[in-house]
Amino acid sequence: MSELPPIEYAFPELRRWEKGAAPYIHVLESGKPGPTVMVASLTHGNEVSGAIVVDALLAAGVKPRQGTLILSFNNIDAYHSFDPKTPFKSRLVDEDFNRVWGRLDQPATTVETKRAQIVRPFVERADLLLDLHSMHDDCVPLMLSGPLDKGVAFAKKIGTPVDIVRDAGHAAGMRMRDFGGFGDPKSPKNALLIETGQHWRASSVVVAKDVAARFLVETGAVEAGDLPADWRQPTPAKQRVVEVTHAIATQSGNFTPARHFEGQETIAKAGTVLGHDDGEAVTTPYDDCVLVMPSSSRPLKAGVTVVRLGRLT
Ligand SMILES: [Zn+2]
Repeated sequence: MSELPPIEYAFPELRRWEKGAAPYIHVLESGKPGPTVMVASLTHGNEVSGAIVVDALLAAGVKPRQGTLILSFNNIDAYHSFDPKTPFKSRLVDEDFNRVWGRLDQPATTVETKRAQIVRPFVERADLLLDLHSMHDDCVPLMLSGPLDKGVAFAKKIGTPVDIVRDAGHAAGMRMRDFGGFGDPKSPKNALLIETGQHWRASSVVVAKDVAARFLVETGAVEAGDLPADWRQPTPAKQRVVEVTHAIATQSGNFTPARHFEGQETIAKAGTVLGHDDGEAVTTPYDDCVLVMPSSSRPLKAGVTVVRLGRLT
């Protein structure tokens, strides 16, 4: 068992935000026409950089200039279950909140499906959604644009981070960012999911604030001067789009990586051995293969994705 990563910032006390349009969901109306814009945090309960942002927006009393602004703490029960001795457990209570969005027509039997039924009307109302996440392992920030052209275009408008990951989500179930109109190429609705870096790095908070500020200004919800000036970070010279082509899952949990791989590391040659799964070599299928979110310290169970492979487009 590897050592637990350090927690570099204080977690916010969120109980003061319980009372809203629904528990831990706040709807701010401008009284003027305009899009409904939503910033969501704690879709995974231990991904706290986004909660810092939503807490700060509420504490500052930010009001939309037009349309409606919805601010939410999604899996609040998981957040409140946080225990520093087992910090990864509070990602969820019963199941992954971000895999239930394709089966909300079924009876809600878990903490997460019950909560998703409460969050759902707000997600349905949103024209533009930013879902704030972070990562188990240290990695550069990633914007997950979803599979559609409109998601990639939106990620380019935000202008940061460097890496845009174009991906179709997970076989285990639909994500919130792909729900309803967000996943429909004909709908003008659009959603982005930012992975701000490792969950408890101070740098994750910096990324979450920067991306949220850009999103709120780009969508017209606020003007730049409505937000703290130190939220904005320099814009990278270039972004790149990595299209996920493969998800490598371990058959029985017995995967041994060939070496330590960095997140977003590019492997030059096709056929490079990434590791062995049950003794069988796993190799890169093409030249310049990007390793998307390779797991370095996650405990492995059968069927868990150990790395996703992406092509630069
Ligand atoms: Zn997450």
